[in-house]
Amino acid sequence: MKILRAFKTEMDLNNSQKTACARHAGASRYAYNWGLARKMEAYKAGQKVPTAIDLHRELNALKKTELSWMYAVSKCAPQEALRDLDQAYANFFRRVKEKSAGKNFKVGFPRFKSKKSGLGSFRLTGAIHIFDKAIQLPRLGVLRLKEHGHLPSDGVHILSATVSEQAGRWFVSVQVEMEIPDPEQMGKGAAGVDLGILHMATVSDGSCVDNPRSLKQGLTKIKRLQRRVSRRKSGSANRKKAVRQLARAHFCVANIRKDALHQATSRLAKTKSAIVLEDLNVSGMLKNHHLAQAIADVGLSEFRRQMSYKGGWYGCKILIADRFYPSSKRCSGCGQVKPDLMLNERAYRCQYCGLVIDRDLNAAINLEQFLNA
Ligand SMILES: [Zn+2]
Repeated sequence: MKILRAFKTEMDLNNSQKTACARHAGASRYAYNWGLARKMEAYKAGQKVPTAIDLHRELNALKKTELSWMYAVSKCAPQEALRDLDQAYANFFRRVKEKSAGKNFKVGFPRFKSKKSGLGSFRLTGAIHIFDKAIQLPRLGVLRLKEHGHLPSDGVHILSATVSEQAGRWFVSVQVEMEIPDPEQMGKGAAGVDLGILHMATVSDGSCVDNPRSLKQGLTKIKRLQRRVSRRKSGSANRKKAVRQLARAHFCVANIRKDALHQATSRLAKTKSAIVLEDLNVSGMLKNHHLAQAIADVGLSEFRRQMSYKGGWYGCKILIADRFYPSSKRCSGCGQVKPDLMLNERAYRCQYCGLVIDRDLNAAINLEQFLNA
């Protein structure tokens, strides 16, 4: 079976390489913002809205005059940015359609990219070569990698490479097409999975995936740095420094969580034939400002994202219980539903059949039973 997969790793760049990458990211952002402005302008004037191909042609003409600085970067960077812009437009119109079909969410129009949230990213296609300790990219040459042997070097077809900056570090993500063995369906059971804060995931077979200890330490650090930021005078150099430290801590926590999630989702996708998850309350998610909860929520959508693509690789179906299914209030023993369940009750006690069971495990078993409900 052929699959598409991305591998991401950190690069070890010298100063001139960092400058070159920043310049490419700048050209990519410039092209995106310029293209967005051109599209909006054409729309307002009642003209045909230009596509990525039209815009690329126009941009190439401008390079001969006012945008000559763009000759210093690979032509892929602006070209791919314009493709992304077309995709953002397509996504916008799809969401408008879905909204008019009754789905309830905010329809965001593509926004201009700002430098505020970092230097950004760019994508390159063409001659990309992967070595054990380095990657070779068009225009940028051979760039050293911090982790050796993580990127696949043979048996894969490389489609593109995305270079991005996050909290002062540079990463490369390589999109590849690769062959994996066909999934086996035999002898694997279904399971319900309850995602939460106390335990990252509780599985209906009784196993449980805990949050890594380093996550809690990271959260404590974030809280401390947040206080530091708010105490510093706005606009001061010390405030900027504190903001940078906070961004680094956030990034670190996100990575810890992602790693732990990857381990859990790989294990589940390989050992189960179907996974039932609860539906996400998206609008409720966006309103939540409590830190631990906010991070758990990010975990929920990330878990679901990872499960759905790994499920495809390993032959594990993903089912979502509808949002009215009372996975936490229902008794997994007798099926009766409790009218109220306090958030602080760690154990589920059924007044009908007398079952006493861990609250999260009860929810996970209910999710598994959703298959037959
Ligand atoms: Zn019961």
